Amino acid sequence: MSNTTWKQILARDPEEIEFHQAVQEVIETVQPVLDRHPEFERLAVLERIIEPERVIMFRVPWMDDERRVRVNRGYRVKMNSAIGPFKGGLRFHPSVNLSILKFLAFEQMFKNALTTLPMGGAQGGSDFDPKGKSDEEVMRFCQSFMAELSHHIGPNNDIPGGGLGVGAREIGYLFGMYKKQRDEFTGVLTGKGLGWGGSHIRPQATGYGVVYFAAEMLATRNVTLEGKTCLVSGSGNVAQHTAEKIIELGGKVMTLSDSSGYIFDPEGIDKGKLAFVKRLKNIKRGRIQEYVDKYSQTIYTEADTTLDYNPLWNQRAEYAFPCATEGEIGENDAYNLINNGIKMVCEGADRPSSPEAVKIFADKQILYAPGKAANAGGVAVSGLEMAQNRMLLNWSAEEVDRRLKTIMKNIHQTCLDAAANYGEPGNYLVGANITGFLRVVNAMLDQGLV
Ligand code: NDP
Repeated sequence: MSNTTWKQILARDPEEIEFHQAVQEVIETVQPVLDRHPEFERLAVLERIIEPERVIMFRVPWMDDERRVRVNRGYRVKMNSAIGPFKGGLRFHPSVNLSILKFLAFEQMFKNALTTLPMGGAQGGSDFDPKGKSDEEVMRFCQSFMAELSHHIGPNNDIPGGGLGVGAREIGYLFGMYKKQRDEFTGVLTGKGLGWGGSHIRPQATGYGVVYFAAEMLATRNVTLEGKTCLVSGSGNVAQHTAEKIIELGGKVMTLSDSSGYIFDPEGIDKGKLAFVKRLKNIKRGRIQEYVDKYSQTIYTEADTTLDYNPLWNQRAEYAFPCATEGEIGENDAYNLINNGIKMVCEGADRPSSPEAVKIFADKQILYAPGKAANAGGVAVSGLEMAQNRMLLNWSAEEVDRRLKTIMKNIHQTCLDAAANYGEPGNYLVGANITGFLRVVNAMLDQGLV
């Protein structure tokens, strides 16, 4: 892509910082592919791949418990359907805007391609904040959101799933409304309850997959997680199941966090303590600080936005698993991690490390796995949920877990092979971007100018 074209893209949507960052990273890393394929320029491959096929934006009116009408904004960004129907999560968080959803959908397109399952890339959501809302308010919001979204999705064209702020409860309410409106019981959403079309292991899949990927990376250096200290951020779906699998494989989880602060447990968070966190977060919907009331040896540190670093990443440990949100590891955090002995960063969240941090990891030869590869297990099992829905089957937990492990192993190997093939051995980011890019672009070119 010429400099002029890049400038035009920036000028067209100047406020879309997150999206531009994601695009820039991909363009930089796929340059060797562009050099080998000069015809891509005339075919405007880059210009086409960064433009969503369709974007839907809509009003979501709902009534709160005080009978006051509230209005949020809903979105679905349909980025690319070259390799399969649109697929990707929903996010409910006050920070949601078009730029964030475009960046998530862009990443999702490559992530889905890495799984080799037939799924295109999309993302959606709303600036609605489920935090502090009653179950009834969340239900009313979800019903209003789906009343509009149901016109734009379906089991053959777009299958949303969960994501940040959208867990089992929200998927239930969304599915119920879709079913009522369309009068069809169908696999239109993933992350469904086990008793009504869901898959075993889907709630665990993203976190388990992250740790399977990490174990593969460590195996290239002949080490394992056994006895190793790990920093995990977040305390939601991805963090909980990342921690669970680390513990199962003998690692020691030292930290967890939420947007209010983080806990450091010097004795490590074991299975029993994690069960407490799951109850606290998934049922009571409390704050991570409450962990300290139960386990008094723990240190709690409140989040402080005036600091230019995140103290969670300033603890001595061997491996780091950022599982909260984008941009949570900045340049200073990257240096702190390295100075504290971190040898691997494996991303559970989507783009938690800033571009500067990623460059530092590469310079210092830290094992680094980008979220689009390491957290692809979630969407992979969503793909398996779709397959089971179509066959009216329900595979056992062991069967789904076995398939998940194989998928993560294959993604890991594919990233390594592509990175080596394009002159950047061991660079998982380059490997993931090149593999995802080529799979989507080849499918687009096969299908003509549509
Ligand atoms: P959840 O909503 O279940 O949990 C998110 C966690 O991150 C919560 O602990 C939340 O704290 C914390 N958090 C959110 N924003 C911030 C912030 N600004 N600073 C500090 N902590 C924050 O989401 P998931 O676990 O599902 O998702 C986490 C990440 O993983 C996201 O980047 C998501 O896109 C990505 N992902 C998720 C997949 C899935 O299957 N769920 C699949 C692939 C990627 P609080 O409760 O205070 O908000």
